[in-house]
Amino acid sequence: MAPEPTQDPYPEYMRKSMEQVSASRSRRMAEEFPRLTADQKSDILKSFHPDHRAGKMVEIKVGVSKGEKVPEEVEAVLQAYSRLDAKAFDLGRIDFDVDVLVIGGGGAGSAAALMAQEAGATVLLATKLRLGDANTMMAQGGIQAADKDHDSPTRHYLDVMGGGGYHNLPELVRALVLDAPVVMDWLQDLGTMFDKRENGTYVTIHGGGTSRKRMHAARDYSGAEIMRTLRDEVRNRGIQVLEFTSAIELLKDDQGKCAGAVLYNMETEEHFVCRAKTTVVATGGAGRLHVQGFPTTNHYGATADGLVLAYRARAPFIYMDAIQYHPTGSIFPAQIEGLLVTEKVRGLGAQLVNAGGEQFIFPLETRDVVSSAIIRECKPVDEKGRAKGLKTLTGRDGVWLDSPMIELKHGAGTVQKELPAMFRQYKRTNIDMTKDPILIYPTQHYQNGGIRIDADAESGLANLYVAGEASGGVHGRNRLMGNSLLDILVFGRRAGKNAAERARTTKIGALTLGHVEAYHKELRGLGVAPDRLSPMLLPDYRTPGTKERQKGQVPLAGRV
Ligand SMILES: Cc1cc2nc3c(=O)[nH]c(=O)nc-3n(C[C@H](O)[C@H](O)[C@H](O)COP(=O)(O)OP(=O)(O)OC[C@H]3O[C@@H](n4cnc5c(N)ncnc54)[C@H](O)[C@@H]3O)c2cc1C
Repeated sequence: MAPEPTQDPYPEYMRKSMEQVSASRSRRMAEEFPRLTADQKSDILKSFHPDHRAGKMVEIKVGVSKGEKVPEEVEAVLQAYSRLDAKAFDLGRIDFDVDVLVIGGGGAGSAAALMAQEAGATVLLATKLRLGDANTMMAQGGIQAADKDHDSPTRHYLDVMGGGGYHNLPELVRALVLDAPVVMDWLQDLGTMFDKRENGTYVTIHGGGTSRKRMHAARDYSGAEIMRTLRDEVRNRGIQVLEFTSAIELLKDDQGKCAGAVLYNMETEEHFVCRAKTTVVATGGAGRLHVQGFPTTNHYGATADGLVLAYRARAPFIYMDAIQYHPTGSIFPAQIEGLLVTEKVRGLGAQLVNAGGEQFIFPLETRDVVSSAIIRECKPVDEKGRAKGLKTLTGRDGVWLDSPMIELKHGAGTVQKELPAMFRQYKRTNIDMTKDPILIYPTQHYQNGGIRIDADAESGLANLYVAGEASGGVHGRNRLMGNSLLDILVFGRRAGKNAAERARTTKIGALTLGHVEAYHKELRGLGVAPDRLSPMLLPDYRTPGTKERQKGQVPLAGRV
């Protein structure tokens, strides 16, 4: 076993600031920071949210959502050529022929595969890494569902709409909140173990922007518990799964409907043609694009692949210019930069305070507002560049999340009981979050928008269904905590069921990659350099020095 680190990780200047945090703690225990008015929220978002930074959102110049804005990092993968030579690629050899192809092995993909199979379809699930290597596995805080007497789907609906700035597509929100109790029963039947009271009822807590306590959790590893259940179920039901196999292009047939995908085995470097009557894209998010240089909470495979594939096939986007930065990403010590500190920490009573030990925002405002307030707090306030936040040893900004307040409010042992994974994450770096506050800063977490879907989870391209983080519309321009785990299951289930149903009446014509050729033509017209390829598949963290040293070395593909 690796020895426990013994040195105090906090340098002296941080310890000094922490003294001010502890000095103000007993006063703050009784203090509730006033909530912002609607106008104040709007002002802080406009002034400090990264989505509003000048020049960071750019117009897409090609494709079906031409003219809409996206982060420049997303534009870079959209305005890029296919990894395939679409003209020369042989579509004559069909390697897999199924009713429903599911792309992505996270929560949405697994739910879709289960429901499609249950509806009688033959299903193939292809996923980039291993089944369950996904953002779903990493989710901590919980899942929302209005399934208690003090609550109702109507209240849930109003909270979702308010959180999303009323930009949400109402029919999607309706589906989300009405299916939520059904999803909870489904998970319970499959064996997911959420926290319960002794009388057998669910423990529920608040999340940012919720008017009722409706967050259901399995301690602080809710996603792992859900993913464990779904993955077991996919395996137990014998659904065919291809691991380390990424979709790199969608296929259409000669009538223009989606008809499967070209798959690429990342270990053997083989390509496979999968003909499918219907296809579900469930490839998750874009965190690994590191928009505006932010660190990220996301898993390694979150490189926006599904967005690229669907967009090339002419499925429109919605709200791709709304990125969610989770307010509390760990920013110190450096080895855990970007990792999530769940909202549940604030839900349990930890306040956000600046270097001087003062609160500056109500801790459970919506994520976009809290992130903006933290960013504001770290901006220089005088000509000497002093700010109310702190600088880390690597030059990052941060403010304190006063985690010792949790046990002062709820009693000794609460952190280890409610947040065991978080406690261990910090303990590994020799920080005891029950005794010392932790330093945090916003981290890229989620894309609020995505490929536009309807309440059946169908995209703007016939026979292409999209579920989970790759889809857009349900959360408007800002998702509330706990509504993504819900969304992936609600729309994953709907996608699987509807894809299976549509497959029953679908006849596939001749396969084509003509849409890719047409997209290439647009790119060439714009003068895009031919060496820009996407989907990215995996992020490239090589330094310029490493790249230089690799020059002239035999590339991986040249092994044989
Ligand atoms: C650290 C963390 C904590 C979170 N906590 C919460 C929470 O408490 N509550 C909540 O509601 N939400 C939470 N979220 C958000 C939520 O977990 C995710 O949005 C959601 O799980 C996404 O599910 P998904 O199935 O859409 O995508 P994922 O779970 O990411 O799955 C996508 C899958 O697709 C695969 N894939 C990607 N590209 C390809 C390709 N080209 N071909 C084949 N496969 C591909 C990926 O490898 C992955 O397996 C959290 C997210 C993170 C990162």
